[in-house]
Amino acid sequence: MRGIKAEGGWAVVCTEQVEIHHTSEITPFIELRLWDDRDIPALARMADAVHAHGALAGIELCYNGMNGPNLWSREVPMGPAHLPVATFTNEPVQARAMTRRDIDALRRWHRAAVRRARHAGFDIVYVYAGHALGGLHHFLSRRYNDRKDDYGGTLENRVRLLREVIEDTRDAVGDTAAVAVRITVDELLGADGFDRSEAEDAFGMIGELPDLWDLVMGSWEDDSQTSRFADEGFQEPFVTGFKQLTTKPIVGVGRFTSPDAMVRQVRRGILDLIGCARPSIADPFLPRKIDEGRVDDIRECIGCNICVSGDFTQSPIRCTQNPTMGEEWRRGWHPERIRPKTSDASVLIVGGGPAGLECALALANRGYDVALAEAGRALGGRVSIESRLPGLAAWARVRDYREFQLRKHAGAQIYLDSRLGPDDVLAFGFDHVVVATGSHWRTDGVGRLHTRPMPIAADARIVGPDALMAGERPAGRQVVVFDDDHYYLGGVLAELLAREGYAVTLVTTASRASDWTFNTMEQHRIQRRLLEAGVTIRPHTGLVHVEPDHVLLRCVFTGRIEALAADAVVPVTARWPEDGLASALEARTADWADAGLRSMQTIGDAWAPGTIAAAGYRGRRHAEAFDGPAVGDDALPFRREITGLAALHDPTA
Ligand code: ADP
Ligand code: SF4
Repeated sequence: MRGIKAEGGWAVVCTEQVEIHHTSEITPFIELRLWDDRDIPALARMADAVHAHGALAGIELCYNGMNGPNLWSREVPMGPAHLPVATFTNEPVQARAMTRRDIDALRRWHRAAVRRARHAGFDIVYVYAGHALGGLHHFLSRRYNDRKDDYGGTLENRVRLLREVIEDTRDAVGDTAAVAVRITVDELLGADGFDRSEAEDAFGMIGELPDLWDLVMGSWEDDSQTSRFADEGFQEPFVTGFKQLTTKPIVGVGRFTSPDAMVRQVRRGILDLIGCARPSIADPFLPRKIDEGRVDDIRECIGCNICVSGDFTQSPIRCTQNPTMGEEWRRGWHPERIRPKTSDASVLIVGGGPAGLECALALANRGYDVALAEAGRALGGRVSIESRLPGLAAWARVRDYREFQLRKHAGAQIYLDSRLGPDDVLAFGFDHVVVATGSHWRTDGVGRLHTRPMPIAADARIVGPDALMAGERPAGRQVVVFDDDHYYLGGVLAELLAREGYAVTLVTTASRASDWTFNTMEQHRIQRRLLEAGVTIRPHTGLVHVEPDHVLLRCVFTGRIEALAADAVVPVTARWPEDGLASALEARTADWADAGLRSMQTIGDAWAPGTIAAAGYRGRRHAEAFDGPAVGDDALPFRREITGLAALHDPTA
């Protein structure tokens, strides 16, 4: 994955955090490790892959300190003070205040990790004091550091450990590598934390020590906000001015996808170098496209943080915009290349949502003649609809990128306003058909709580999510949104209605609004926005009965029932696959041969409703496998790495 980024033109490709010692590990999250020499080969392989394309390899060495619960090593975490670990998983673990000896040990461990990083071939070695994720950050912060010794109290003392570790790192690498420091320039806690004025003063003390400053703000959650809550380049006011405090170059991020926004920050003397994490995930070839003047070909990050959810769910990375992300090695997919066609077959794709668009584009890139038929007047399917909801405008980029690329293909035809039935499909004479007809929201309450339709009085007013998004509105003022889906939509629809003046109660069986968005680091912001918009949130509550003027709610713990006045209910529970066309074609397989039809495959939400990322992935997967050797259902469709077994311990030896 990182080799492909280097191929895509990034000047430097960095690891994410690399744990340097077993006294600081953040299980259950998956981190790289450099605990001893045995970790070197895996990291060397990454550095080699980056070097193969002429880029520099950077490594973010990190001592998590009191941010690591040490669930795996069972060592007691250490930090500046005796405090509960600062993990959001609220582990019942307390960190121990580091003694002078511990501090000396930490410096020794960091030096050892730096030496190993050099052996692995890294060109830029990071000292990590950012995002509240590292021990060095905790020492800087008035929030965590209450020490009475040389490492606490005054700013000079709180900066001491960072200064020492930078100097140690410089000594260890000599002139063989650059030393970078990532630092949070404002914890957003005012005088309770490390704020801007302290950061400026710290630059007066250590501003010339590293070779490169990497500026971030707040916690990771603050810095990597989704497009629903922050625009491209929103960190600008936080990082502006630091360049004037040092002669060393400064790199910063901003979910940058627009070359103009990047150039503006460089020209205005805010940043020297542009850093990107998510934009490099959505488009690993972003720099090369800028370099070649192909700005319109950039696959712009939509700012959804599905990539981030991999960290929180301990699963491989995935991306809504780039379906090849995380599949480079195990499936051999490439974001810019795909194997050429192996026949002259023609393919009809029915449905122009994310699944149909991705499949059509990938097949067209392979060289097949494709026709994309869409029932509506515009492409995009659910992203076109959902991007009109509050805060989700950037999601339309899923459509825009694919539509723009597809229209450049001579061999790709797009037909709008074309709702196809089985007769149409059979009459057209395509060799293959791909059904990507999407899904629609259920209105009977079936989801996680109810696996059978819930009791709804005949004259009760139910406004399903699809109707609501199409513009329909409840007649009365009091609306209950029942969210049993737990991703973003229930919260967004509650926000939409509250903004329009409805008295909205969000009823959810979960403990928080839009519970799953914890994994996209949005949950706090969503709940705050809903509360500020006047939405009443009823957690741990199921909706169990709907009448015209009220609903019955049930506590998920006690089963206690209560009535709540409501004029209408918006159930956000589960979806039906839109599989009528596929079923009708399936029922007519006897007619296929005469029609010249050789195969049909259903993809995306029509196969099984899921995320937009899942729909795009399904589209890509079908296009990648199309016309290839049949794999069958029994074989694992991707490569996997199996951990080598250590030798058995022989107690007699
Ligand atoms: P996915 O996420 O799987 O791509 P979407 O719901 O976003 O699904 O998109 C499905 C698209 O398919 C919608 O734009 C819808 O208008 C279109 N569609 C549904 N049925 C038909 C049909 N019979 N003929 C053509 N287009 C269809
Ligand atoms: Fe951007 Fe979403 Fe892809 Fe992450 S998953 S890189 S936020 S488009």
